Amino acid sequence: MYPASFDYVVPVTLEEALDTLGRYEDEAKVLAGGQSLIPLMKLRFAAPRVLVDINRLPGLETLATEDGGLRIGALVRHKTCERSELLGGRWGTLGSVAPLVSDPIVRNLGTVCGSLAHADPQGDWGSALLAMDAEVVARGPDGTRTIPLGELFEGPFVTSLHPTEIITEVRVPDPGPDAGGTYLKLERKVGDFATVGVAVHLAMADGKVGKAGIALTAVGPTNLRATAAEEALAGAEPTDEAIAEAARLAAEAAQPHSDTRGSADYKRTVVRVFTERGLRMVREGVR
Ligand SMILES: Cc1cc2nc3c(=O)[nH]c(=O)nc-3n(C[C@H](O)[C@H](O)[C@H](O)COP(=O)(O)OP(=O)(O)OC[C@H]3O[C@@H](n4cnc5c(N)ncnc54)[C@H](O)[C@@H]3O)c2cc1C
Repeated sequence: MYPASFDYVVPVTLEEALDTLGRYEDEAKVLAGGQSLIPLMKLRFAAPRVLVDINRLPGLETLATEDGGLRIGALVRHKTCERSELLGGRWGTLGSVAPLVSDPIVRNLGTVCGSLAHADPQGDWGSALLAMDAEVVARGPDGTRTIPLGELFEGPFVTSLHPTEIITEVRVPDPGPDAGGTYLKLERKVGDFATVGVAVHLAMADGKVGKAGIALTAVGPTNLRATAAEEALAGAEPTDEAIAEAARLAAEAAQPHSDTRGSADYKRTVVRVFTERGLRMVREGVR
C-alpha cells in the first residue's frame, strides 16, 4: 500500500526542525532511519501531514565516551554500533545487541534513538539501555530535558515524549571499570523480532555485585525491568544459587502473552533460562 500524501521537510538546523514540529504539533513526525515509521505509513497506521527528516542535522552522529559515560547521538545507526570497537568490555551489553537487530538492510539505516522513540516492546535496544540506566536527552520548544528510559516507555508504542520534541541523544552513565553485560535474543529466524530477549549488566565491587541491571524484551507492554531480580543480586556474591534465584525472579517479572511465537509459559521459561545463562556468562567475563 502507498502512504497517505504528506509534506516533507529537511531542516539543516535543530532550531528549524523544532520550529516545524512546533507549528504542526501532533500532525508532524520526525523521520530518522524510517525503518519503523515508513512501514507504518505504508500500512496507513500512521498518516502524518508532515515528515521532518532529521538526517541533515549536524552534531547528531556522536558515538563516544565523555566523563566516563557514553553518548549515542540521534543519527547513530545500528550498523555503526555493530562495527564500533568501543562497545565491548563495560559497554558489552550494547555491543551484543547491535548485530541482533533485524538484518543488515535495516541496520544500515535504523537508529538507536529512533528505536527508543518508537517504543516497540519487541525493540532490542530498549532492554539493553534500560538495564544500563540510560536516559534520553530531548530538545523541545521550552529547552532540553533528560528522561530516564523507565519514564520514557509508557506503553506499547507510547512514550512520554511530546510531539514537539526531538531526542538528540541517549546517555549511558559510567558503569565503572569492573562491569560488563550481554544480550540474549531468541528469534524464529535471523532478522526476526524477538520471541524473548534478555539484557543483563553487572557492575562489580570487591568481588560482589555492586549493581545489577536486568531487562526483558517482548514479554510485556514495554521493555520491562526485572527490578526484584536486580535487587536480589545487588550486594551479593554472584554464586550459582544467587544467579538461579535472580533468574527465577526475572521470570516472575515477565508478563508474556501466548501468540504465534510461543506460549506464555514457554516465553517465561526462556526468560529464566536466558537470565541465568546471561548472568553466568557475564560473571565469567568480569572476573
Ligand atoms: C523488517 C524489519 C525488522 C526489524 N527488526 C527489528 C528487530 O529485530 N529488533 C529491533 O529492535 N528493531 C527492529 N526493527 C526496527 C528497527 O530497529 C528501526 O530502525 C527502529 O525501530 C526505528 O529506528 P528508525 O531510525 O528507523 O526510526 P524511524 O522509523 O525514522 O522512526 C520511528 C519512530 O520514532 C520517531 N523518532 C525517530 N527518531 C526520533 C528522534 N530522534 N526524536 C524523536 N522521535 C524520533 C519517529 O517519529 C517515529 O515515530 C525492524 C524493522 C524492520 C523494517
